[in-house]
Amino acid sequence: MVKNLNLFFDTKGPKMETVSALCYIIILISDGCGYNQVDAASLYQYGQTGTQVYQQFPVQISMSTYADGGSYDPCYIWQAFDNVASGATDSAAAATAMSTGHKTYGGAIGVGPDEQPLRNIMEFAEEQGMMTGVVTSVMLSHATPAGFVAHSRSRGRYGHIAQEMLGDSAVDVIMGCGNPYYDDDGNEFDDPCRNYGFVGGEDFWNEVMAGTVGSDADGDGDNDPWTLVQSKCEFEQLAQTDNPPSRVLGIPMVVATLQHNRSGDRTADAYVVPLNDNVPSLATMTRGALNVLDESENGFVLMVEGGAVDWAGHSNYSGRLIEEEIDFNRAVEAVVQWVEANDAWDQTLVIVTADHECGYLTGPDSGQHEDGPQWNPLVNNGAGNQPGMEWHSGGHTNSLVPFYAKGAYAQEFLNRIDGEDPIRGRYIDNTDLPNLLFDVLQQPVMAQ
Ligand SMILES: [Zn+2]
Repeated sequence: MVKNLNLFFDTKGPKMETVSALCYIIILISDGCGYNQVDAASLYQYGQTGTQVYQQFPVQISMSTYADGGSYDPCYIWQAFDNVASGATDSAAAATAMSTGHKTYGGAIGVGPDEQPLRNIMEFAEEQGMMTGVVTSVMLSHATPAGFVAHSRSRGRYGHIAQEMLGDSAVDVIMGCGNPYYDDDGNEFDDPCRNYGFVGGEDFWNEVMAGTVGSDADGDGDNDPWTLVQSKCEFEQLAQTDNPPSRVLGIPMVVATLQHNRSGDRTADAYVVPLNDNVPSLATMTRGALNVLDESENGFVLMVEGGAVDWAGHSNYSGRLIEEEIDFNRAVEAVVQWVEANDAWDQTLVIVTADHECGYLTGPDSGQHEDGPQWNPLVNNGAGNQPGMEWHSGGHTNSLVPFYAKGAYAQEFLNRIDGEDPIRGRYIDNTDLPNLLFDVLQQPVMAQ
């Protein structure tokens, strides 16, 4: 339950308050999700498009995602089928742009083109006394959560990144996979197979387990070790308890992903291969994170990533793409339920977007035809059935991605439009996302 915030009453005097009315910022990123990925999940879930909770949000625009040195030219992009297939960002540069407001090179985690650290929105929020959290369905030290918390010249330095996230940052909630003891099906590894790479190495992990790792998260000068949450049951309890721990590391009992990497036929239709049943959903993890963060006296910033939507796109696994995007959609629903249960839209900004498209997904028979490029919509085969889908890449594209926003200051994004695309309409750039937040969080507001 949210605290009764005193932000609007400056008892000391003047009518100007120095704290923003925006207290709760929740950024949900479906990694690798373009417009057709949203439609694929919607057709499977509902038998129609436009049905997601975020597709009822008042702000529905697009966002460009290119990395440092790149560009998005809406005329050029639609001239030939393959034009969008080059010039794409990676998740590290995109996360850095969305967390710091600066374009950087592919692979960069929270550093600029000069490899120097950039201040991110989480650090900024912590300075304002807010709590912060990151949640993902892939490894906690993977590019997107790393790009919101850590600073590293290369996304592949998982060990260093994990050590910075868990040992040096002031973030209050970190949830993601990378559990050294379990495989992708949630079975315990034999000792020699254990992979400590995503959690900072064996020695560091043992210190995390012992409760001796953790920098000062609450600003009182003392180090704050992590309360570990691992089992599905523990995650469910965290989402419901009236007395949550103040700092939580949630690491489900799988190594790489909640569900995407489980064994079985990965080309099968959605849900044909039974899901891992020992791990929480992204929605349950999100509810747990919200339950910890809403104890904050000064609000919070939370980033939630559907991380394996991208992995399914790389592999062109249509069924797993749908599973992953539905898992993400349910996390958005959990966030909206939290806002509405707390009657907090006036103080909350919810953003639903992506870091880039992956897989160049279209409907069947799309491509460069004799009379020009053709982009066909997915074919609706009814709810519960795979729609007709066609993949054109094993990598990322430079497509605009969807951008949805609702709540306090959501309309402000409409004042930051960078261009108009003939198909997708008005778009902002991924750097506009944090730059708006930086502006809002430091501007004084009238006392109410
Ligand atoms: Zn990717």
